[in-house]
Amino acid sequence: MGTWGRLIANEILDMLYPPGLYCNCCGKITDDSRTYGLCNDCMRDIKWVSGRICTKCGKVMSETDPGEVCFYCRSHEHYFDRGYACAEYGMHEKNLLYELKYASRGDIGLAMGEIIYDRMAAEFGEDGLALTYDLVIPIPIHKRRKNTRGFNQAELIAKDFSERSGLAMDAKLLVRTKETGAMKGLGPAERRSNIQGAFGIMNGRERLVQGARILIIDDIFTTGATLDEAAAVLKDAGASRVDFCVFASGADYLIV
Ligand SMILES: [Zn+2]
Ligand SMILES: [Zn+2]
Repeated sequence: MGTWGRLIANEILDMLYPPGLYCNCCGKITDDSRTYGLCNDCMRDIKWVSGRICTKCGKVMSETDPGEVCFYCRSHEHYFDRGYACAEYGMHEKNLLYELKYASRGDIGLAMGEIIYDRMAAEFGEDGLALTYDLVIPIPIHKRRKNTRGFNQAELIAKDFSERSGLAMDAKLLVRTKETGAMKGLGPAERRSNIQGAFGIMNGRERLVQGARILIIDDIFTTGATLDEAAAVLKDAGASRVDFCVFASGADYLIV
């Protein structure tokens, strides 16, 4: 095929390939068989969690760290029981989260649901998940923010996870009672006070929490202030176990 022929072929490819067939992360053309909608390069470059992880918050730890839990968890108490993460927060992870939140790429939320499902199934086994948890809850965003963005990204992820795992999701049980300022640039203590009192249990759903083993789903974990506050509210309401799984966990430089 000559140059022109290739040009025409590319034109036709562009017409045939809807946006969903571009890599979710870098935008390169892929085909629909790609795992998580990622091209080979991004699949390779995403820092999938492996090796030694903190047995409390799920962050990756250095091989030389002698502890069971990370440095941060050694000096800070958490209300959640146990956290899991799929990837370490870096450039690729930032791209994906940005596209999801600010480019309204809901399809990326579904891919993250699949990623979280694979991570948790690897941990507990496909059948083990249903034996471990009673309920899946996404971290809610404030109504006003949801109206502006059009969706709650954690709810999209949790919905896909719920469908794959068969675990029931309740996106209305935990409510955001207070609109909070951005967490970006805040230290751990400021983050805690920023988020304090931001969650409540929906009237009439209190009994669903009693004795329940809950898995919270969110997009990112940084210091854990948000997940701790949500876990504290659920524990106060009688939850027997509150774990979480996030897509990415790591340093604090995301626009929230
Ligand atoms: Zn890519
Ligand atoms: Zn930790």
